[in-house]
Amino acid sequence: MADKFQSIKGFYDILPEHTALWQKLEDTARRALAQYGYRNIRLPLVEPTDLFVRSVGEHTDIVEKEMYSWEDTLNGDQLTLRPEGTAGCVRAVIEHSLTYNGPQRLWYMGAMFRHENVQKGRQRQFHQIGAEAFGYAGPDVDAEQIVMLARLWRELGLCDVELQINSIGDAAERAEYRQTLIAYFEGHAGLLDEDAKRRLHSNPLRILDSKNPRMQEIIEAAPRLLDTLGSETRAHYDGLCQLLDDAGVAYRLNTRLVRGLDYYNRTVFEWVTAKLGSQGTIAAGGRYDSLVEQLGGDATPACGFAIGLERIFLLMQECGIEASDAPDVYLVNVGESAERQAPRIAEALRNADLAVVMHAGGGSFKAQMKKADRSAARYALIIGDDEVAASEVTLKPMLVAGEQARLSLDKAIEELTK
Ligand code: ATP
Ligand code: MG
Repeated sequence: MADKFQSIKGFYDILPEHTALWQKLEDTARRALAQYGYRNIRLPLVEPTDLFVRSVGEHTDIVEKEMYSWEDTLNGDQLTLRPEGTAGCVRAVIEHSLTYNGPQRLWYMGAMFRHENVQKGRQRQFHQIGAEAFGYAGPDVDAEQIVMLARLWRELGLCDVELQINSIGDAAERAEYRQTLIAYFEGHAGLLDEDAKRRLHSNPLRILDSKNPRMQEIIEAAPRLLDTLGSETRAHYDGLCQLLDDAGVAYRLNTRLVRGLDYYNRTVFEWVTAKLGSQGTIAAGGRYDSLVEQLGGDATPACGFAIGLERIFLLMQECGIEASDAPDVYLVNVGESAERQAPRIAEALRNADLAVVMHAGGGSFKAQMKKADRSAARYALIIGDDEVAASEVTLKPMLVAGEQARLSLDKAIEELTK
């Protein structure tokens, strides 16, 4: 026998037994995004490597070690499989002057690629839904995105989610804080782990979200950026808190929340759950007011987030959320004349907007009923020689209450669509 292939590490198949729940997640998200006026944009999976280096940032986990990058053999272009969606979205907004006639609310969905250690909730190909709002400077849009996510969780029925927010100031405030932080950590150099030492001068803010237990004490005692904010950034933060209070969305200030990507400023937020171990962040985002200009566009304030769909899926399972893709009807057809009638009857049912699995391939009544059972259809519609002769069908409730009955096809459709 020939050798079989296997999918490569970190790249998973999503099998039919799980796709009903995936579709519930996707459909609910699409609906929520549309309700807030977000419009869908579809972006390429491959972008110039430099786009990510210049947006996500050179000294980030993503750019330092997680990107799938290669050189195009035809022209030597440096290319990368997208590790996140914001950079490509900003590229498209600039390339097509999408904000020329005013602000834009956009969303996208699709696969992202990061070469990282595979664990539960951490894959090499994973999926995100992202939303980005361009051209809005105030905290109203930050709040609206958060409220939209709260609605999405509610509509999915998610349990155990917590919102954490922080403000990481503007570039100048962060630059000053950076120096304060470097000085502070240099004063405790003996307590820094290897990662922290490496980051001390390149990306000291990232030390704040170190998970190393040995470092927690010095991190707890570090000066807080929030305390050094100027009046404008402070007002933005206070405005956001006010709007979240008004909307009845609970949040926790986490002054250590800095996010792993360089482009954020002011608002940052994460939705976290305790139910998924250390991969507990299910969605994350914030404001990135200078990125559009930094990538060659006109200065345009912006704010966005990305949802990690695999993690939401796992949390949906943890919370006991279910979805079904079972058909309405399994059409059992026994005997030559019934077999000939079955496709016509199936089409008539589908015209009435019913989902029908027509038994194919023949077999005994018993064998077909077994398949009907396994399909989890609400009803079995049965036709045999008797039914064909009488121009009737037999309708048997499978998962719903009621008696089996012989009736005309029209009456059966009436029953099924009640
Ligand atoms: P983490 O700290 O867990 O590595 P991150 O800060 O790198 O997350 P973002 O770049 O903010 O993640 O991506 C937004 C969301 O996408 C995350 O909150 C998470 O839900 C999801 N996500 C990120 N990386 C992965 C991955 N490798 N596998 C599955 N989901 C992921
Ligand atoms: Mg990461």
